[in-house]
Amino acid sequence: MQTPAPVEYAKATSIADAISRLEALGEDSRPVAGGYSLIPMMKLRLARPETVVDLNGIAELRGIRVEGNELVVGAMTTHADVLSSAILFEHYPIFREAEHVIADPIVRMRGTIGGSMCQADPASDLSAVGSALRGNAVITGSSGSRTVPLREFHDGPYETVVQTGEILTELRYPIRPGAGSAYEKVERRAGDWGVCTSGVFVVVSGGVITDCGIGMAAVNADHYCAPEAEALLMGKAPTEENLAAAAAAAANEANPIADQRGPADYKRHLASELTLRALRRAVAASQGA
Ligand SMILES: Cc1cc2nc3c(=O)[nH]c(=O)nc-3n(C[C@H](O)[C@H](O)[C@H](O)COP(=O)(O)OP(=O)(O)OC[C@H]3O[C@@H](n4cnc5c(N)ncnc54)[C@H](O)[C@@H]3O)c2cc1C
Repeated sequence: MQTPAPVEYAKATSIADAISRLEALGEDSRPVAGGYSLIPMMKLRLARPETVVDLNGIAELRGIRVEGNELVVGAMTTHADVLSSAILFEHYPIFREAEHVIADPIVRMRGTIGGSMCQADPASDLSAVGSALRGNAVITGSSGSRTVPLREFHDGPYETVVQTGEILTELRYPIRPGAGSAYEKVERRAGDWGVCTSGVFVVVSGGVITDCGIGMAAVNADHYCAPEAEALLMGKAPTEENLAAAAAAAANEANPIADQRGPADYKRHLASELTLRALRRAVAASQGA
């Protein structure tokens, strides 16, 4: 069995403590959340931090609340907490649908929403959800906090705009009254990363689509959104023809690679089909069906 290189361990007691440790230790340190991505990477020697700074003792990083017209989710909130959250489900069932198909209950007990976002895996389900909802990331460092749209948070596969000495502290999602949302995923077996996924929200008002968002995972290296497909839907009636045209546009925006999960053409076909299915369900939910 592979084992990580020797590593120092530090348990942070507050956000300020985590930041000051990470800043002092510099590029040789990494924060650790659930450890479900970082530890395997350390075992494979793809990551070799000299010190890991554990965020699990920072209570203020965990929790889900409504603040004004936003849903606020702390970075250390676990997948299990997101899955069971009544507040998130009330506004965006997409969270529960995505969490149901992320890994397994053991991973979901310790794996976190912040770790998922910061791992920046192109197949990350919650990155697709966050992009669909046009959420924001709050990143905190010694000079304060900055807010970055989630559509600009990822800087390539396994890269984000979080700098050394900073941590992701919160995710914020705008509440949209009347929104319907849905998540679709094809996986090779239960709990696996997606072959392709698509998540959407839609607001239908006065017979037309007045707001929408489309997020896809496993089909692009460095982003999860499909803005051209969204533009096709805005101001249009949610007819089958219009939804199908947007789904086809989403597939055109997908740039999948062939890998062990399937050929590129198959994934592009899934991008269209899953987006169409998600759009149909989100439209029905927004119309109160
Ligand atoms: C068997 C298995 C199956 C899985 N299947 C899926 C799946 O189907 N879909 C899916 O989306 N995911 C899947 N995952 C990944 C899972 O969602 C992990 O929980 C997630 O990738 C990482 O979360 P974590 O809390 O464990 O982060 P960690 O592993 O602790 O950290 C991941 C990275 O983020 C950094 N980091 C963590 N928190 C912060 C922070 N607050 N600020 C700055 N940097 C931070 C770390 O330094 C590290 O670089 C799977 C994982 C496993 C083990």
